[in-house]
Amino acid sequence: MESGIKRPCRRCLTRDMDQKEYFENLHAYIANLEEEVKVNEPLYERRLLVCKSCDLLYDGMCRACGCYVELRAVIKKNSCPYDKWMAVPVSDCSE
Ligand code: SF4
Repeated sequence: MESGIKRPCRRCLTRDMDQKEYFENLHAYIANLEEEVKVNEPLYERRLLVCKSCDLLYDGMCRACGCYVELRAVIKKNSCPYDKWMAVPVSDCSE
């Protein structure tokens, strides 16, 4: 039986979104992550520079891990699957 309450479509699959909307959602998600899980801006940019020069980057996605690199690189504990950039050690909270 229907309750009469209409829930908005969450459109969870990327194939159901236009690319502009999807990337806006991705950037908003990154911006809203807890600061303690994110690397600082200089390190983030250094990681992304490495990705930008990597042959495995395709349309913002790493073909080695399948991640969008802007999301993967912003998280302290993440590392490049080919060790081109490393995770920030837990003891070093300044990075
Ligand atoms: S995460 Fe590593 S392998 Fe993937 S695109 Fe970046 S540098 Fe290349």
